[in-house]
Amino acid sequence: MNVLIIGSGAREHAMAWAAARNDAVQQVYVAPGNGGTALMGGKVQNVALKATALDELLEFAVLKAVDLTIAGSEQPLELGIVDLFRSAQKKIIGPSQAAAQLETSKVFAKDFMSRYGIPTAGYHVFREFQTASLYLASLDESRYPQVIKASGLCAGKGVIVASDGMEAFRATRAMFEDRVFGDAADEVVIEDFLEGEEASVFVLTDGEKYRMFYSAQDHKRIGEGDTGKNTGGMGAYAPAPLVTSGVMKKIEEQIVVPALEGMAADGTPYTGFLYVGVMIDKGEPSVVEFNARMGDPETQVVLPLLKDDFIDALQASLQGTLDLVPFEMLEQCATTVVIASKGYPDLYETGREITIDSELFDMRDVLLFHAGTEIEKGTLRTSGGRVFSVTALGKTLMDSIELAYRAVDHISFEGACFRRDIGAKAL
Ligand code: ATP
Repeated sequence: MNVLIIGSGAREHAMAWAAARNDAVQQVYVAPGNGGTALMGGKVQNVALKATALDELLEFAVLKAVDLTIAGSEQPLELGIVDLFRSAQKKIIGPSQAAAQLETSKVFAKDFMSRYGIPTAGYHVFREFQTASLYLASLDESRYPQVIKASGLCAGKGVIVASDGMEAFRATRAMFEDRVFGDAADEVVIEDFLEGEEASVFVLTDGEKYRMFYSAQDHKRIGEGDTGKNTGGMGAYAPAPLVTSGVMKKIEEQIVVPALEGMAADGTPYTGFLYVGVMIDKGEPSVVEFNARMGDPETQVVLPLLKDDFIDALQASLQGTLDLVPFEMLEQCATTVVIASKGYPDLYETGREITIDSELFDMRDVLLFHAGTEIEKGTLRTSGGRVFSVTALGKTLMDSIELAYRAVDHISFEGACFRRDIGAKAL
């Protein structure tokens, strides 16, 4: 069997690692991949195709007799890669363009949740500045904070938590009048602020049957103590102690089941990975967001904790046998620490030579996933903001945290930055 993984992050490196472990897999192609997937060797090989080059990706999949394609990130899903592959009878994991709207349109997601009674923050949708500002003016200050959201994809930047009316007014004006997010803010959602703590849950589904991975929590902010700017994610751990079995059951019954049933009833069955971002307050979960793919860095902790085979589960999801395949989690914890380039998440330096001590490769229960790395004339160099995701497994969360940081010490490049408190909030 040949597998194609689309993307270039640590999430896709983790998927390539999981795919390569399946003996029935002969080739794992990663498009475009990174320095880490290039160094894997054996059956793993990078392909110089961008994640958004849909026609070329399909051509490649046909030419190389790819049996299973995984779209790692949201961009190809928004462009309709799943519909394209399916129309050519090529098997692919992910939702159709219409179903991916659960992530690509916040208006779609909110209206969907409201129709199916899925718990989420109260909200209003606006299509012009005047009505939005009238609405904001009508709100009592006790209703703040309010959350102002561009409906479309903004790479995590289109959400502003406004602490008072003035801030909300300015954020709304920036979206509608100054068009800081372009067309992504043609529609704006203004929603109530949810108290609580965030976690995420990952589901693999064929549209009807589904299996759930461990829950996870990530650290989005650049600074220790969850301070400073938002990033793609500076680290994560799983399972999330906050998501007790009781909370997980509520997430499944009140969110996952009605979401899958609702999407099927609407004629847009949801297939692939569903990322459910929840706010948990006093044991009650509400949806903050849906994503149409696995999370990064959460995949780097959730996937290594899957005891059974990843590719077998994906195959089963394509054959309608997801309920029959083993899908157990290891009774362990995992932590991943992201090492970033100096300056990230703003302008950062690239091209720095990377040194990795050989001891790291002898460490048990440690997995080094690359993100922004490339090999230039035989030398491994930095090429992105987030450079590595260093994952460690342990009996306890504490063990996995300690081991991950011991591994991090074996990696160096000029300007390497990472948070020293990943996982601490869960201890
Ligand atoms: P990302 O791509 O970073 O996940 P996004 O652009 O899809 O983000 P959301 O996930 O909807 O946007 O919001 C980003 C963050 O803003 C959330 O992770 C959460 O911390 C905060 N947030 C969003 N909505 C609310 C809310 N109603 N109450 C409290 N916090 C919220």
